[in-house]
Amino acid sequence: MFRAKEYVRAKSLQEAYDLNQKRSSVLLGGMMWLKMGRNDKGTAIDLSELGLDGIEEDETEFRIGCMCSLRRLEQHEGLNRYFGGVWKECTRFIVGTQFRNTATVGGSVFGRYGFSDILTCLMVLDAQVELYQGGIIPIAAFAGMKYDRDILVRVIIRKDGRRAAYTSQRRSKTDFPLIACGLARKEGIWYAAIGARPEKAVLVTAPVTEEPFEVQAKELADRFCFRDNLRGSGDYRRHLAGIYMRRLMEQLGEEDLECR
Ligand SMILES: Cc1cc2nc3c(=O)[nH]c(=O)nc-3n(C[C@H](O)[C@H](O)[C@H](O)COP(=O)(O)OP(=O)(O)OC[C@H]3O[C@@H](n4cnc5c(N)ncnc54)[C@H](O)[C@@H]3O)c2cc1C
Repeated sequence: MFRAKEYVRAKSLQEAYDLNQKRSSVLLGGMMWLKMGRNDKGTAIDLSELGLDGIEEDETEFRIGCMCSLRRLEQHEGLNRYFGGVWKECTRFIVGTQFRNTATVGGSVFGRYGFSDILTCLMVLDAQVELYQGGIIPIAAFAGMKYDRDILVRVIIRKDGRRAAYTSQRRSKTDFPLIACGLARKEGIWYAAIGARPEKAVLVTAPVTEEPFEVQAKELADRFCFRDNLRGSGDYRRHLAGIYMRRLMEQLGEEDLECR
């Protein structure tokens, strides 16, 4: 556990941003990751009074505040209806209900963890990240950026008619994933993301072809790099990726759905 000299509940994003420019400061999400660190901090900045814990939906998009809990994501009716239950599937094995009540979207996305189910899922949905200073950028670009001292304010997911499916494999139910696979289909294109390779998720696209799903899935899987770690070998991950991509293709079915 770390200790902080000072605790500030920010009254505005500008105040939080200004305080966060000091290297010794730290922004607090749900603290589930942070609490495992031992480095003491100067100022701990709490964003919980800024009204960023909800999910807003209109005709064109979902806007998810950085303090929204993973549990809220998991249970949000609109998100799960629109994306065929993908959020329930991608969150349900993350530790346990109490943990997901506390861990936030901001901490999960800003962390850009290799094992992240959330990052993998957001990639296939072509989500965008709203940074306080950096503006709105695609999640795939954000995942490759260096860590800086900006604030992740929201995640935006457009209602662009894509269909998505998600699956992961774990050595035990609530462990980190051994592999995390997301797939979306839109207008004749597959959008595939694989995380826990063990590196963080990357996005690969390919046209939907007449080939059997088994062949298309293997071709997609072969475009990712996989490595060994204590949870599994690179070869095993590649093998699993081919199987899971095929299953996700079958789940998404034959038809493109232009809009809902
Ligand atoms: C034991 C354990 C198991 C886990 N298993 C999984 C798993 O299986 N799958 C999975 O996807 N995830 C997993 N996670 C990650 C977890 O879901 C959260 O992503 C993680 O705890 C970070 O979220 P948090 O809200 O707790 O962030 P915090 O711990 O509070 O913060 C994490 C980092 O993000 C920064 N930060 C927080 N909010 C913002 C913001 N708005 N803007 C900028 N920076 C910010 C913090 O300063 C800190 O550097 C696991 C975590 C733990 C501790």
